[in-house]
Amino acid sequence: MNGIPQPSAFRAEARQWLATVARPRAAGGEWGSGSDSVAVFENRTEQEEQEHTARTREWERTRYDQGWGALAWQEAYGGRGLPAYYEQLYRAEEAAFEVPQRGEIFPVTQQLVAPAVDIWGTEEQKQRWLRPMLRTDELACQLFSETEAGSDLAAVRTRAVRQGEGWVLQGHKVWTSGARVATWGVAVCRTDPEVRKHAGLTVFLVRMDAPGVTVRPIRQMTGGSSFNEVYLDGVAVPDTDRLGPVGEGWRVTLSVLAAERLDSGSLGLDNADRALDLARHLGRPLTGAEQQRAADLAVRVLVQRLIGLRVTAALVAGREPGAEASVGKLYATATMRHTSELVSELLGPRLAADTGEWGTYAWTEHLLGAPGYSIAGGTDEIQRNILAERVLGLPKEPVR
Ligand SMILES: Cc1cc2nc3c(=O)[nH]c(=O)nc-3n(C[C@H](O)[C@H](O)[C@H](O)COP(=O)(O)OP(=O)(O)OC[C@H]3O[C@@H](n4cnc5c(N)ncnc54)[C@H](O)[C@@H]3O)c2cc1C
Repeated sequence: MNGIPQPSAFRAEARQWLATVARPRAAGGEWGSGSDSVAVFENRTEQEEQEHTARTREWERTRYDQGWGALAWQEAYGGRGLPAYYEQLYRAEEAAFEVPQRGEIFPVTQQLVAPAVDIWGTEEQKQRWLRPMLRTDELACQLFSETEAGSDLAAVRTRAVRQGEGWVLQGHKVWTSGARVATWGVAVCRTDPEVRKHAGLTVFLVRMDAPGVTVRPIRQMTGGSSFNEVYLDGVAVPDTDRLGPVGEGWRVTLSVLAAERLDSGSLGLDNADRALDLARHLGRPLTGAEQQRAADLAVRVLVQRLIGLRVTAALVAGREPGAEASVGKLYATATMRHTSELVSELLGPRLAADTGEWGTYAWTEHLLGAPGYSIAGGTDEIQRNILAERVLGLPKEPVR
């Protein structure tokens, strides 16, 4: 594509294209009709997860093949070379159409792993991985956390030992979202136990169907199993699947984590809007305390959207949003918490009993799922540490 279209022309073109491939979302989602799901994590069986993944993949391929995926990527990778915020412009239009919800594995692949491959990959790796990842023919999960290494991620113990031309991986990863449907896992491994912990790490892309990889779903308090344990038992990985230099795994990991924070700023907004709709349709006047809580949430939703615009403004100005992204994630998890509080107050016991009444018991899925996002992608406390150190310039935590 020649030149960069004006944002308004781009949005109109996106709308037009979407109308040819998807149905418009039901007008305004009238209160009391349609789905009342506000699930933060879907409770799917493995088969349902596979089926949903197949549907979403089909949609992502349509977008990519028709020039509406990978918007900010170079043409060489099937993109259009547009500024990063055009992706947000596109999403704003897509929200008005019935398209599959992307869940976690799709953004992880396209927004977290593919950019890390772009930064750290060799030319051969970029050619081999980027198109299939952007088109979601390949889906990648994050094999980062371990039972003894979550917030302190550099403490990972999974070992990668050189053997001939390649490496052998041995270890145990945990909380891996989407491992049941992923075709690749990005594994942070210890390659040198003798040096300072941040210096002894290397990142590998591991085929999830390689001999020695075992995935075990973890039952979450929401009832579903969107994350898993992953055992790596003598898994052979060719050196050509190493991402970044040996011993530079920490920097590779930071690229992925920074992208993850950037991706989290709009979390919880839809459900907060829905909670405010609930306040409007409760069928009785709100008490003073309820009004106060609803007003507080309405202001938060506005501020969170403004923080999102600041991140976009940084992108438009060609800057990498840094700490703004941590503010965004922290704010988003607080919005989710405030949504839970408002809904609990408004519904009282109607929330806890499954009477079949629309838009009541369904909220338990928000209440039980929301705390997960205060942990995933770096806990609230860790986001505060980042803000303290990188924005406020407070002394760094001592490295253990
Ligand atoms: C829904 C969900 C999805 C996830 N998906 C993935 C995934 O796909 N891949 C993956 O690798 N991991 C994933 N995780 C794991 C997640 O990254 C870790 O749970 C998270 O980093 C916290 O690590 P931890 O659970 O070991 O807790 P810990 O690090 O043990 O922390 C325990 C508590 O101590 C606090 N704490 C720890 N260190 C500090 C500190 N320095 N200062 C202040 N407080 C501190 C924490 O904030 C927390 O409250 C997921 C987690 C969730 C909940």
